[in-house]
Amino acid sequence: MVCSTVREGMNCPFMTANGCDYNGGVCHKIDEKCKGCNRSAEFSSGWYCTVYPDPSLKWKNGDCNFASHISVASNGTKAKLNPLKASKRGNR
Ligand code: SF4
Repeated sequence: MVCSTVREGMNCPFMTANGCDYNGGVCHKIDEKCKGCNRSAEFSSGWYCTVYPDPSLKWKNGDCNFASHISVASNGTKAKLNPLKASKRGNR
């Protein structure tokens, strides 16, 4: 249903005929770490995430898995080391 609270006009699974069904009855503003993410958007009431109602929870146990601005950094560039091959190399 289309949101009529803080993210007015956006389709949201938490919106019901009786209002917002999310914990607290409203979305929470983005976290400091969300800055730069393509999924954050400015509404008349402030900056909110377009895919998650409480952004601070997405950062509670590490990086947000939806974040667009950290995906490259989290992939890393280190190649996996095969312990068997590494031990053979050590014997040479
Ligand atoms: S996707 Fe994650 S990082 Fe991006 S705005 Fe939403 S909660 Fe923040």
